[in-house]
Amino acid sequence: MRAAVPLAELTTLRVGGPAVVAECTTTESLVATVRELDDAGIPLLLIAGGSNLLISDEGFPGVVVRIATTGVQIFGTAPATSGTSTDSASAGVGTAAATRVKSATAPAEFEAAGAAAGEPFVVADAGAKWDDVVAATVDAGFGGLECLSGIPGSAGATPVQNVGAYGVEVAGLLRRVRLLDRASGEIRWVEPGELGFGYRTSILKHSDAAVVLAVEFGLRADGSSAPLEYRELAAALGATEGESRPAALVRAEVLRLRAGKGMVLDAADHDTWSAGSFFTNPVIPDDKVAAVREAIATSVGPDVSVPTWPADGGVKFSAGWLIERAGFGKGFPGPEAPARLSTKHTLALTNRGAATAADLAELARTVRAGVAERFHIGLEPEPVTVGVQL
Ligand SMILES: Cc1cc2nc3c(=O)[nH]c(=O)nc-3n(C[C@H](O)[C@H](O)[C@H](O)COP(=O)(O)OP(=O)(O)OC[C@H]3O[C@@H](n4cnc5c(N)ncnc54)[C@H](O)[C@@H]3O)c2cc1C
Repeated sequence: MRAAVPLAELTTLRVGGPAVVAECTTTESLVATVRELDDAGIPLLLIAGGSNLLISDEGFPGVVVRIATTGVQIFGTAPATSGTSTDSASAGVGTAAATRVKSATAPAEFEAAGAAAGEPFVVADAGAKWDDVVAATVDAGFGGLECLSGIPGSAGATPVQNVGAYGVEVAGLLRRVRLLDRASGEIRWVEPGELGFGYRTSILKHSDAAVVLAVEFGLRADGSSAPLEYRELAAALGATEGESRPAALVRAEVLRLRAGKGMVLDAADHDTWSAGSFFTNPVIPDDKVAAVREAIATSVGPDVSVPTWPADGGVKFSAGWLIERAGFGKGFPGPEAPARLSTKHTLALTNRGAATAADLAELARTVRAGVAERFHIGLEPEPVTVGVQL
């Protein structure tokens, strides 16, 4: 069914003008719709959870394809202590429309993934809610995904920007992605090595080449979490970095920490009317790090320590710290503004209820210009922008 819809209703920033929307609740209809629009030369925009999109107030001049598939299947032998009632079972979860399967073994199609025999894994349709997928794996007694708890949006979008949080990235957990190649029409499972993963990016981001139809993640059979690499999380759990804890405990702690930063969606809390972090942490190439440190020292004083992390090809600086030190504190520019920085977290641009995409873009430009002027660092937006110039 196709109807004109205000895209603000489909995004977590709650901005975006109208467009014709085709909602696809099955993988077959998703594939058929994308092929039909591509054959007809009609521009299309894929939307799933709408939590990483800033869409212009003019909307989208084409068809928005809303990915609303829901199936989730977990395969593996649950540990004895997990409380699950079935061994070697697969269980479906998600919304009412999700597939529910109970079978003793994974279909050959999935075993072809080449994982060690018996290693548990989860397969999710692209439109399945990501946090439902995480919750289901933890409830089934498996570890691995818990650090990515509470992230809004869909399972299929997680490889698009190599979603990450609390020391874990999708690239490190993914077994395979099922892709529709829009040029050739071919559908196939693709290994992570083909997806060009980097920090909050992959070959799928800012690209019209492919549609993610499903994702498959490996899980930890003993119910323990992935090694805790994020100091704040490890400390909160009384662990040292690199140790594991039961996945359910880690999930609860991650949700608690995220809620404190306004990073768990809550319709009643405007601090969560956002696209999460609006800017990525800038990675400064090694040969420019000294100059950036000098600019920071000149601006904020030589004794102030700057949060940084080692990164591929350089040093990663904290975007939130830079924004705050450039003069944009929590809640900037103030209580009357329709678009403001979150009152809990300077990295999130938020809609206080009446903001337009233009208001959010202006705030983003102001913050970006201020950081560039002060520290000679160009911040890059993390969400995908549609018809919006930053
Ligand atoms: C409160 C909050 C907290 C967040 N925290 C984090 C965080 O901790 N870490 C993090 O990495 N991100 C975070 N995000 C960003 C966002 O949740 C993730 O990027 C998420 O994966 C986006 O999923 P989505 O389904 O909402 O994607 P959408 O916003 O619907 O789409 C995002 C982009 O992916 C494309 N796309 C979507 N589905 C597909 C598909 N099946 N195939 C091909 N392309 C597709 C879209 O066309 C668009 O370009 C946060 C967002 C919010 C609002």
